Amino acid sequence: MKPILVTGGAGYIGSHVCKALALAGYLPVAFDSLEMGHAWAVRWGPLERGNILDRARLDAAFAAHRPHAVVHCAAYAYVAESVADPGRYIRNNVAGTLTLLEAMRDNGVPDLVFSSSCATYGEPQTVPIPESAPQNPVNPYGRSKLMSEQMFPAFAAVHGLRWASLRYFNAAGADPQGEIGEEHDPETHLLPLVLDAASGRRPAITVFGTDHATPDGTCVRDYVHVADLASAHVAALGALAAQGTLGAFNLGNETGHSVRQVIDTVSAVTGRDVPVVLGERRQGDPPVLIADSTRARNELAWRPRFPELADMVRTAWAWHRRYGSGTAGNCEELK
Ligand code: UDP
Repeated sequence: MKPILVTGGAGYIGSHVCKALALAGYLPVAFDSLEMGHAWAVRWGPLERGNILDRARLDAAFAAHRPHAVVHCAAYAYVAESVADPGRYIRNNVAGTLTLLEAMRDNGVPDLVFSSSCATYGEPQTVPIPESAPQNPVNPYGRSKLMSEQMFPAFAAVHGLRWASLRYFNAAGADPQGEIGEEHDPETHLLPLVLDAASGRRPAITVFGTDHATPDGTCVRDYVHVADLASAHVAALGALAAQGTLGAFNLGNETGHSVRQVIDTVSAVTGRDVPVVLGERRQGDPPVLIADSTRARNELAWRPRFPELADMVRTAWAWHRRYGSGTAGNCEELK
C-alpha cells in the first residue's frame, strides 16, 4: 500500500479523505496537531501528532512512513477569526504550507494535493465561477489559501513540485456509512447549526440576511458532499502521478441552494420544525457562490455520488443523531 501523508487527517474533510484513500488501496498517514482534529476520526491508518509549522516533526513523519505524496488539508478555517487575527491565519496556513513544501522538497516527495477554497475568489463577477475567475479574497482566510496556491508554481519550476489545488465550495454531509462526520468547536457552518436547531440542541438558526439579491433574499451556496470532495483527492493523486502538475479545480455541484432551502430540506428530511430567527447580513458574505466544475468532471472524471442536498442532509443528520455536536469524543464506540 502506498503511504500518503494527509495533513489535517483528523479533521472533517481530512478524515473523509483518509477513508477514501484507504478504500482506493493507499495507506493514509494522518499528520494532525489535534488542535482542531479528533483522534477518533483517524481510523484508516496511523496518526502522527504534529504541527505543520514543526519542521522536525514533519521530517520525522516523512522518515517513518516514506509517503509517495501529500494531501494538505491542515489549516485554520474560521473566516471571522481570520478577520480578527490575520497573523494567526497567515502563520498557520501560509507559513505552515511553506514549511511543508520545504519538507517535501528535502524528503524527495514531489506530489501535492492542496485543500483550497472558493474563498480565494472573493465576490465573484460571474456565476458560475470558473477556475480562471479573478481571485480577490475578501478575508484573510481566503487570502491565506490564495497565498499558499501562489507558492506552488515557483516550487514546481525549481524543485519539481507537482501540484493540484482543489477549491472546495460548501462542504456538507457525513460519511454515508456513518463512521465519521463533522464536528467543529465552535460550529459556524450552516447545515450543522440547522440540525442543532432541528434537534433542540440550539434554540434556533439565525438566517444571516434576508435582503440579498437572490430569489428568496437569503444567500445561495453550492453545497458539495464531503465524500465527493474526498473522492476528488483520490482522483487528483492518480492524475498527478500520471500527468504531473494539474493546477486548480473547482469542486461543487454547480447548483445553488439558499439558506431557506437548506432549512426547508432539513425540515423535510428530519420531519421536525426548525425554529428560525431572521438576522442581519454577515459581513463579507457574497449573495451567490456557485461553482463551474467542468474541469474536474472532464479532467479528473469526477462524478459526485451525492449531488442532492437531501443526501447531504440525510447523512449529516444520521451522524448528528448518533454523535453530533460535541458528543463524538465521548463515544467509546469511536475510540
Ligand atoms: N448562514 C446563516 N446562519 C448561520 C450560518 C451561516 O444564515 O448561522 C449562512 C451564511 O450567511 C452563508 C451560508 O449560510 O450564506 C453558508 O454559510 P457557512 O458559514 O456554512 O459557509 P460559507 O459559505 O460562509 O463558507
